[in-house]
Amino acid sequence: MLQIDSLTKRYSNSDVALKGVSLNLRAGEVVGLIGPSGAGKSTLIRCVNRLVTPTSGRIALDGQDLALVSGSALRRVRRQIGMIFQEYALVERLTVMENLLSGRLGYVGFWRSWARRFDAQDIARAFELLARVGLAGMENKRADALSGGQRQRVGIARALMQQPRLLLVDEPTASLDPKTSRQIMRLIMELCAERGLAAIVNIHDVVLATQYLPRIVGLQAGQIVYDGPAAELDAGA
Ligand code: ADP
Ligand code: ADP
Repeated sequence: MLQIDSLTKRYSNSDVALKGVSLNLRAGEVVGLIGPSGAGKSTLIRCVNRLVTPTSGRIALDGQDLALVSGSALRRVRRQIGMIFQEYALVERLTVMENLLSGRLGYVGFWRSWARRFDAQDIARAFELLARVGLAGMENKRADALSGGQRQRVGIARALMQQPRLLLVDEPTASLDPKTSRQIMRLIMELCAERGLAAIVNIHDVVLATQYLPRIVGLQAGQIVYDGPAAELDAGA
């Protein structure tokens, strides 16, 4: 479903972050992206989400070249891509429910009256997702009253509100303790399996990556140096 061909990114300060990266994901396939800081992991994820414009190369979602879509077609593509962040990117003074509903629209202007402004289907989906991520009954808690693990659960639920087919997950556990990190990785993997979601999980913790992610792509200085099963990476390391 996702095809990345010969992707290159050179930033204006002439840092070359990606040098000819090619990567394909089938529907429902989850890949862990590992590599040292500065390897280009964030840049790769940002190119797929169009936060960063590649210098050359091609990214296609279901055969549709991302560089060529705009307007309503781009909004359709974006809806198919859910983002999960290291620092959760919640609006701290809003409640859990407000975060879920405003995230769906991509802005927070209408948060005060969510019950009137959002359709029943969105609200029902939000409650369903909250229960699924283990936060049943927490909808009226403010984000700033939650633990890190709970915040990431909200971040995961928010990413799923738009019913994406591809998740881009940027260091989901980097701010969490080891036990919570394992719980969050397990939750992400379960949800991908249940919902047939493909995912790119940017993760610097190699042990955690090989424990939960079946396929590992290793990036180093902007190039893919490994692409294969986690088990073989363990053996070769
Ligand atoms: P990683 O996520 O693996 O740590 P990044 O994609 O953040 O790697 O960075 C790859 C390279 O690109 C690094 O040399 C970094 O300094 C550079 N880089 C990242 N973002 C920018 C930016 N916005 N402007 C200029 N250089 C950048
Ligand atoms: P990461 O942990 O993902 O590698 P960094 O801490 O390297 O992130 O970078 C944080 C932010 O700074 C990102 O938005 C990244 O794109 C940007 N950035 C990283 N390196 C540079 C750089 N050399 N010049 C400008 N911006 C950069």
